Amino acid sequence: MQLWRDALRRHNPTEERVLVNTATLKTTRSEEIFAAAQKLMPGGVNSPVRAFKSVGGQPIVFDRVKGSHIWDVDGNEYIDYIGSWGPAICGHAHPEVTQALHDVLEKGTSFGAPCYLENVLAEMVIDAVPSIEMVRFVNSGTEACMAVLRLMRAFTGRDKLIKFEGCYHGHADMFLVKAGSGVATLGLPDSPGVPKSTTANTLTAPYNDLQAVRSLFEENPDQVSGVILEPIVGNAGFIPPDAGFLEGLRELTREYGALLVFDEVMTGFRIAYGGAQQKFGVTPDLTTLGKIIGGGLPVGAYGGRRDIMAMVAPAGPMYQAGTLSGNPLAMTAGIKTLELLQRSNTYEQLERITKKLSDGLLQAAKETGHAACGGNISGMFGFFFTEGPVHSYEDAKHSDLNKFGRFHRGMLERGVYLAPSQFEAGFTSLAHTDEDIDRTIAAAREVMSGL
Ligand SMILES: *Cc1c(COP(=O)(O)O)cnc(C)c1O
Repeated sequence: MQLWRDALRRHNPTEERVLVNTATLKTTRSEEIFAAAQKLMPGGVNSPVRAFKSVGGQPIVFDRVKGSHIWDVDGNEYIDYIGSWGPAICGHAHPEVTQALHDVLEKGTSFGAPCYLENVLAEMVIDAVPSIEMVRFVNSGTEACMAVLRLMRAFTGRDKLIKFEGCYHGHADMFLVKAGSGVATLGLPDSPGVPKSTTANTLTAPYNDLQAVRSLFEENPDQVSGVILEPIVGNAGFIPPDAGFLEGLRELTREYGALLVFDEVMTGFRIAYGGAQQKFGVTPDLTTLGKIIGGGLPVGAYGGRRDIMAMVAPAGPMYQAGTLSGNPLAMTAGIKTLELLQRSNTYEQLERITKKLSDGLLQAAKETGHAACGGNISGMFGFFFTEGPVHSYEDAKHSDLNKFGRFHRGMLERGVYLAPSQFEAGFTSLAHTDEDIDRTIAAAREVMSGL
């Protein structure tokens, strides 16, 4: 335990260099609630990155959300660029989603038996995502990734998998090797409690490095079940694939008789209605989904080629189940959210507003003399305090984390809520207005000129 704490301290120097000026932000109630929370729940939270460990300072406790804005328990209002880490793509608490939920709630929350709404969402997902011919709903992205790995192994009869440094596929043991998101944020290369035997079959390569993947295939002949990746990384900051990378993986996996799996838990229905696979024109064998398809309720899914999905119980022998899977509330929030996304110009609007924000942030950094780089695709963006370019997690680690921590706090004080880590992508929604973006860029320029 002590060792683990030391590791945390060593890899997390921001802990000691918190230069917080909360003078302009009244957060008394947040502080009280968070102090109590720390006695009740580990670190005061139910998911690590929320605790602000990597940016320093006091996390904010929220009371309500609406559109592109969130309000904390002290009554402060912020423009939100997390969107619940993705699901709120139509804006928080969209009136049509909440109305649909009210209506379906009357009929009960869970049947534990088939329900017609499952067909409706399944059909929408199959129609939208190029690789998906059949789908299974679960309750989180983590669950979807766990199940897809079992399926990769069941279908190929091989045990090994290849993943990439900085990519996050939920918190299952087999994936907690060089993972992104909270694991990257806390600087933990791994987690205690994960036996070596569990990760012995997990091979890792740097993102955007095709040659490294080929070498792994050569060193492990007929043993690799497949390659899993975020087709655009969002859990090590925002890192798009280099030209030819996804196509190269498609060819390599075919050549070595392995499966290609896109983890589109974050990018699905965000990068395009058909996900990153539609945007880049590369079709994997299997895909995982989550976040947006639950419209703010807990949902995950995995799907893909019909012959592979036929392995899943009860159609086939690969066991996987869930008490609350496909419950009518979650299905309804997903269906309504996808319906809203099908309306005209939604992705054009996301692209325009996100590009305006991303360009504005980089321009502000340039004007105030800070090394910075970043990018955006559709409703997803990223920004690093480093010269760049960033092609991999290794590159992302050159960012000035101290500076990012102070930037984050400064933005918070000016009513802008950004992801509390340099290693997370940002998210916009259909509810973000030009005024939101203008205010955000003005705040960024002000904060950066004082850094
Ligand atoms: C969020 C995320 C997950 C995990 O999903 P949870 O619902 O948090 O379990 C898996 N993969 C990717 C790419 C994600 O962004």
